[in-house]
Amino acid sequence: MKAVCWEGRKSVSVETVPDPSILNPKDAIVRVTSTAICGSDLHLYGGYVPAMKKGDILGHEFMGEVVEVGSAVTRLRLGDRVVVPFAISCGACYYCQQGLSSLCDDSNPNAWMAEKAAGYSGAGLFGYSHIYGGYAGGQAEYVRVPFADVGPLQVPDGIPDEQALFLSDIFPTGYAAAESCDVRPGDTIAVWGCGPVGQFAIRSCFLLGAERVLAIDSVPERLKMAKSGGAETIDETVLDVLDELSVRTGGRGPDACIDAVGMEAHDGISGIYDRVKQAARLETDRPIALRQAIQACGKGGVVSIPGVYVGVVDKLPIGAAFAKGLTFKMGQTHVHRAMKPLLDRIQRGEIDPSFVVTHRLSLEEAPEAYSKFARKEDGCVKVVLKPGVSVS
Ligand SMILES: [Zn+2]
Ligand SMILES: [Zn+2]
Repeated sequence: MKAVCWEGRKSVSVETVPDPSILNPKDAIVRVTSTAICGSDLHLYGGYVPAMKKGDILGHEFMGEVVEVGSAVTRLRLGDRVVVPFAISCGACYYCQQGLSSLCDDSNPNAWMAEKAAGYSGAGLFGYSHIYGGYAGGQAEYVRVPFADVGPLQVPDGIPDEQALFLSDIFPTGYAAAESCDVRPGDTIAVWGCGPVGQFAIRSCFLLGAERVLAIDSVPERLKMAKSGGAETIDETVLDVLDELSVRTGGRGPDACIDAVGMEAHDGISGIYDRVKQAARLETDRPIALRQAIQACGKGGVVSIPGVYVGVVDKLPIGAAFAKGLTFKMGQTHVHRAMKPLLDRIQRGEIDPSFVVTHRLSLEEAPEAYSKFARKEDGCVKVVLKPGVSVS
């Protein structure tokens, strides 16, 4: 089969690799009909996530048709159309039983690696380095899905791929980030980063009853998309973000702040400082958006962090967070429990997730797609790759 393989820093290629096969009776094989490139794939592309190996198959946002099932699979049937969550969960361990599926204790065979970094390991992830299990990802024609009765969600025929695909990650991730803000009617929420997760966070804040969302970014197309989702926008290249947030909230600050940027934020003097520290390996993540979010947040507010961090950061204003009594919520989304309720919202017409798609390409075009997405060129917000479809 054809698959998108990581070759090294800023390098991916489409290779012919062996088809996946059933390794465990609880596995299924899915023929991928649509797959997307995620902002967090860019952390792999940029070489910021350790324990990637040349030839690793990328991709954790995918859907398709079940073409093979192991002998212990009872819920999925051949021919089912499914969307698959990015985190792999057993459904039976202490954490899965509590609905904390991204913290599954049983799905990361390389838990020892994550334990070294974090004390305890979260769930295995598709296509996301050997720290998270070394599972082959879904930017491929076929993919092996472990614990097939637990994760994949059957998609009704009336829902096109582009509406269902983002249930794999960015829609639940944006939604959970908004949910973490404990939105009350009348609330104003600020969102850093108008990439795909930021876009879903903005719309989810409104679904949950926020009155205003203030969206911060520097890319005109992304700000435009945020605006069409109902947000008031702040172009950080033109305006002073902290001043602007204070003025626009009557001097009180946002009720909650969402950092949908994560570790590769860049800007201004502190951006240069972080780049130097990162290059010198004194710091692994650049927390510019997070610093601003803490500084901007109103008293008693929530800082919600769906943006990915992997290591340590420097100069975090913990004193400001303490002084204002802030609450922090973060981590990989417990995507399993979010998928069905969000599919229901799609079916009720409350949201059409396909709004975020700006580029539709064949699997073979993945190398150009990664480069374009990484540089935010050509208005690129979200790329969908269609395996088995020839060049567009
Ligand atoms: Zn993703
Ligand atoms: Zn589990």
